[in-house]
Amino acid sequence: MSALARCRWLVSVAVFVQLVVLPAAAPATVGMEKQLGEEFVSQARKGLPLIYDYEINEMVSDIGGRIVRALGMQPFDYEFFVVRDDSINAFAVPGGKIFVHAGLISRVKSEDALAGVLAHEVAHAHAHHAVRQQQKGAAAGYASLAGIFLALINPVLGQAALMASQAKTLEYQRDFEREADFLALEYTRRSGFDPQSMLELLRVIYDEQKINPTSVPPYFLSHPLTAERMANIEGVLGRLEWERESVPVASKRLLRAAAVARGTSQRRAKAVGDYEAAVSSADTGEERLSAVEMAGVLMVHGEDYSTALAYLREAVAGGRNLDRELGRALLRLGEYDEALPLLKRAVEKRPGDWNALADLGEAHYRLSDAEQAVAAFEKSWELSPWRPRVAESFARALDLAGKRERGYYFLAVVAETTGRLDRALLYYRKALPGLEEGGEEWKQASSRLEQLEDAAEQPHRQPRTPVARLRGLYDRG
Ligand SMILES: [Zn+2]
Repeated sequence: MSALARCRWLVSVAVFVQLVVLPAAAPATVGMEKQLGEEFVSQARKGLPLIYDYEINEMVSDIGGRIVRALGMQPFDYEFFVVRDDSINAFAVPGGKIFVHAGLISRVKSEDALAGVLAHEVAHAHAHHAVRQQQKGAAAGYASLAGIFLALINPVLGQAALMASQAKTLEYQRDFEREADFLALEYTRRSGFDPQSMLELLRVIYDEQKINPTSVPPYFLSHPLTAERMANIEGVLGRLEWERESVPVASKRLLRAAAVARGTSQRRAKAVGDYEAAVSSADTGEERLSAVEMAGVLMVHGEDYSTALAYLREAVAGGRNLDRELGRALLRLGEYDEALPLLKRAVEKRPGDWNALADLGEAHYRLSDAEQAVAAFEKSWELSPWRPRVAESFARALDLAGKRERGYYFLAVVAETTGRLDRALLYYRKALPGLEEGGEEWKQASSRLEQLEDAAEQPHRQPRTPVARLRGLYDRG
């Protein structure tokens, strides 16, 4: 990260801290927790490598949503995010914003085990544990809680060791941890998942931890895994009198999500080796077909399109439906005519698939069909408006359709979301004259432009103290 980018990051942190510092004297309310959650999410979009993949995001939100629905009426809008990171980790930000690392998704053996971990995080948020813990602490307050959560996503110090030391500062008190486990098992059961699966996951990691105590995953620094905790969970499961009909296995969508997670991970080379080994050791027939399919999914997400193509074609010849993956591989390899019908089919099958929609838009654009390209990008953007690469492609398609100014609007939104404020200012200026006056985008652009211009004219208005406080947090490691 450049010095300039870092400086911008600190300025945006200052804006955030200013928002949450003001009411520090009063006890935190649900409204303040919501605000903290929202602000954290907007910082996370700038500072965290979030995964934007329809399949993985949909699966996590679906499982999380089932747990939340089982709770009944909720004060928070729960949202689930996936972080591109290989470590086993998950954390809850006050206000119901739950983050799970890709490493956990590729580690769990079933959706039920993932449901257990998500339910534990939902329980921490639902029971206001982070905020209650801060209020009990002597010097700690709401503002320092905000600082701790921000330190957790600080991109400058993104190394695992530092992340771990920061996770430790979020360690929940033993009684909160016990309560979260108790609630998680109850939520898991109530939402139709198998609560035993969470215990099994924890037991495997607990045993690993005993063999190699230095390799504690970050998750267990904030949620320490002790003999007492294991015994408590076993006790609760006993009291629930949970009758297990069968041991849950990995669903197809979990296997695909794991392939996406590992294909985009920092340790992709290792993943490629594992998936290739699975293909060579598989027997013929169904087993080989599944291994080949997953290897294809992994390669597409690892952006190795020519290797992906061979696997995907073999899986398709065996009867697997891989329209979206094959469509993407062909698109990226420049085979637009062949990609187009596959992507059309993928979108017909799943109209909400914003990845396939963006790929379809790109295919239309490459084939010079500006109108169809804009229509597909428009839908994709509506469903998931946080992807810089899609905004750039969308802008190109709008340019081709003779609507360059509207393209600048989307580029401005993304620049602002990712913290490049001077660029956002420039793009909004270019966009405004071409937008339909009085329309939603025109209104947005006008109001953002005004605010960004104000901020640009008074760059020294930010109070220094909160920045200094956060710098202290950053430099501690
Ligand atoms: Zn916990």
